[in-house]
Amino acid sequence: MKALDEAYLEDAIEECRLFAANGEVLSNLPGLNQTNQNHLGATIIKLDGETVSAGDCHDTITLQSCSKIISLLLALNDYGKERVFQTVGMEPMQDFFNSISHLEMYEDQKPMNPMINAGAIAVASLIKGKSVEDRLERIIELLKKITDKEEIVMNKEVYEAEKQSGSRNRALAYFMKSTGTLVTNVEEALDLYFRFNAIEVDCYDLAKIALFFARGGVLPNSDEKIISARHLRTIEAIMMTSGMYNESGRFAVEAGFPCKSGVSGGIVGVVPNRMGIGVIGPAIDKKGNSTAGGALIRKLSLDFKLNLFEIDHLS
Ligand code: GLU
Repeated sequence: MKALDEAYLEDAIEECRLFAANGEVLSNLPGLNQTNQNHLGATIIKLDGETVSAGDCHDTITLQSCSKIISLLLALNDYGKERVFQTVGMEPMQDFFNSISHLEMYEDQKPMNPMINAGAIAVASLIKGKSVEDRLERIIELLKKITDKEEIVMNKEVYEAEKQSGSRNRALAYFMKSTGTLVTNVEEALDLYFRFNAIEVDCYDLAKIALFFARGGVLPNSDEKIISARHLRTIEAIMMTSGMYNESGRFAVEAGFPCKSGVSGGIVGVVPNRMGIGVIGPAIDKKGNSTAGGALIRKLSLDFKLNLFEIDHLS
């Protein structure tokens, strides 16, 4: 097997960068524009802490949908599995990530899973705290611990822009209010959701988040376990089935490990017991996934046998 070192990653990124041509950078997010079209960066942190970075790995983006795994983490911690999944399902879906129609189609009218917008807004309503600021602070503090960084900030400009253009998310939230799925203050749940999306990260942060999952909830540089491994397993299973929007099946087959993407081009890739992968490639496809980033995830899986369903002696 090849060595997963900087030279390998640099070459792999150059190869996968070509796939950026198949995607487009979302133009309504402040800070992202066509100059980011061909950017691709990655950081991989192995279980022993060895870190490999290459490409445009110092670019920063906002967490967007990758935040959905962190808010789910807190909600599970705050309320436990039973209560959380009374409000949101855990099934994959066919519809686009901002679908409204599915809310009306099923009897219990709750969002299919926590990785789509409706589900994440419902999850945001389950984060404990005195105020929206207080709840955001809890997420930021958790992220600081997970990434071992002193500063994690929310991008105000992105937050304001998403709030301004958030009619679709508002519609999802108010629909859920009308059906009784969302029982707390709707505007607060939405506000928190917009703030989560706007938290700034780079490849290293995404890799650290992934590593936290891959190590079963143990903090970096310590043995302190802050989230139960049971909750992490639940989230990883949902990432595997729904984390890449309506392309999750393809990623389950072709990568074979849990991933979560965001529309700003980030991907968190969790290889349990082996490594955490953070990728940023802002050109995304129609389904919301980074085209070059997705290619890199698939290549890493093939080259290093990361597929969880791999059976050594048969490959
Ligand atoms: N800002 C996006 C939205 O709420 C986030 C979605 C995503 O990354 O998938 O529509």
